[in-house]
Amino acid sequence: MTTVSTGLTPDPLYRRNLEQLRRQFPQPVSDPVHDAYVVFSLLRALNEVDALKSQTPLLGHSVEPNFVQALQGKIDDQGRTLEQVIPELVKHLEGMFLWGHPRSQLNVITHPSIAGIVGVLLASTFNPNLCSDESGRGVSAAEVRATAMAAELVGYDPAQATGTFTFGGTGCTLYGVKVGLEKAQPGTLQHGVRGETVILASKQSHYCVLNVAGWLGIGQNNVIRIATHLDNSVRIDELETAARDALRAGKRIAAIVATMGSTDAFGLDDLAAIYELRNRLVDEFQLPYKPHIHADSVIGWAWSVFNDYDFVRNELGFRGRTVRALAAAHRRIHSLHLADSLGIDFHKTGYAPYISSLVLFRDQADLQFIQRDREAMPYLFQSGQHHPAMYTLETSRSGTGPMAALANLLLFGKSGLRTLLGHVVEMAEVLREGLEAHPNLTVLNGDNVGPVTLFRVYPPGEDTFTVKDRERTEAAFQAQVVKYNQLNRRVFERVHAEALTGQGVVLSMTDCYRHTDHGTPIAALKSYVLSPFTDAEHMQSIIDHVLAARDAVLAEDKMSK
Ligand SMILES: *Cc1c(COP(=O)(O)O)cnc(C)c1O
Repeated sequence: MTTVSTGLTPDPLYRRNLEQLRRQFPQPVSDPVHDAYVVFSLLRALNEVDALKSQTPLLGHSVEPNFVQALQGKIDDQGRTLEQVIPELVKHLEGMFLWGHPRSQLNVITHPSIAGIVGVLLASTFNPNLCSDESGRGVSAAEVRATAMAAELVGYDPAQATGTFTFGGTGCTLYGVKVGLEKAQPGTLQHGVRGETVILASKQSHYCVLNVAGWLGIGQNNVIRIATHLDNSVRIDELETAARDALRAGKRIAAIVATMGSTDAFGLDDLAAIYELRNRLVDEFQLPYKPHIHADSVIGWAWSVFNDYDFVRNELGFRGRTVRALAAAHRRIHSLHLADSLGIDFHKTGYAPYISSLVLFRDQADLQFIQRDREAMPYLFQSGQHHPAMYTLETSRSGTGPMAALANLLLFGKSGLRTLLGHVVEMAEVLREGLEAHPNLTVLNGDNVGPVTLFRVYPPGEDTFTVKDRERTEAAFQAQVVKYNQLNRRVFERVHAEALTGQGVVLSMTDCYRHTDHGTPIAALKSYVLSPFTDAEHMQSIIDHVLAARDAVLAEDKMSK
């Protein structure tokens, strides 16, 4: 007889393994010594990352991610110690941009606050699941609390509004359009989409609208993309024409997506005009539904903190140009409450870590359009009173997003967000002022009122007073547009390479800020300021580096001729 079948082996291997593994988890009952080990492990990781910091805007050296090596990944037979795992993880941060570095102006990627990180850490450690308050407990209430705060901030009636945290701005748009689809064509949850249904959005709208149309079965070809003004806001006259054409053709409008802060240029649609147009069309066509208006305000929402700022008193003391820009954004953003739903990315202009996105509905009754039957989910909702999974696309939902959002809303208050946003707009204004003052540099999004500046550099001889208009309108000038696109790309590459070694500023580049009247894409250098650490001298250094890079590129061309 062996002892295997009785299970009575004294001190079997697995028990010894288990003892080890139990130390790899935070202890479920108080054990201050072990808590110290948990915290020390976090410190150990942070400490190793700290060794990668320098004056450059990235961690360690600029290394390309090694995907060939990554593909060799295999799980080991024997696990490793935590002390061995941590450096393996930290290694993957090598070459990472430091979004908060004063000379990092790449994109709308934020530098998370300490409070936001603590929010994520707590939610990760205790792991609430927000599908229901059975498993989310107080963190479910934190989601409701952050939602109420955000609803009040954008001007919704918190007693009537509702919302849910979801997977990014794309998820927000998905929710908005899905509710709109159901309003326009009741029963799509059961029967699928029948007949032609369209989404109206501007040409500057985020590509997530196309994605959502594809995934919802509306079809990307049924997204009607409306031309924009030079300030990147949708042309209301063209929107009206497109809406009328669709309705006359018997199509249904699943949603009108208003872009409230476009990604590349901070374009802000005239939501009040869209709202008025929608209501007029409902009356005129005697529609049995109200076409849903979803505001893609994942970037612009934060400017709601200026809804009750006194721009005349300007107690925070912003410069004149900044006040003008903030007031101009406010003119559009204060209409946000007219949207039926809207998206908020706390992980963009709210300084929270990814993913922290909230879709808000002005009227909680809208949730009925996406609600499932309780019978469809037998294992859920045995107790508790708050069950978002009755209408969310997700089943499990993390508490990290709501906790990070709540942390920052509490930490900053309106005044803190005004200060942070006012500062990044002020930095953009400093850059624009510098660019405008130079004869070979042009700001493309001159009317822009946000933290992003798109600009182009030209050779010394070019007349920049007229070049912008010629590029946009003259057929004979289109070859020149392409040539200047190439010049700007090469300047970008040079500035970028220098910045990675610690000189100058990391910018980004867009291949198509917008098309000329002849369909040629206009490329642009892009500065997106979000870091609270950026100051005027960093903005000035952009101009110096761009001009030096241009001269180097032109000199290279001369030599090769
Ligand atoms: C970033 C962005 C999105 C997508 O949001 P994610 O959070 O990245 O999913 C949608 N719309 C606009 C205008 C954006 O800038």
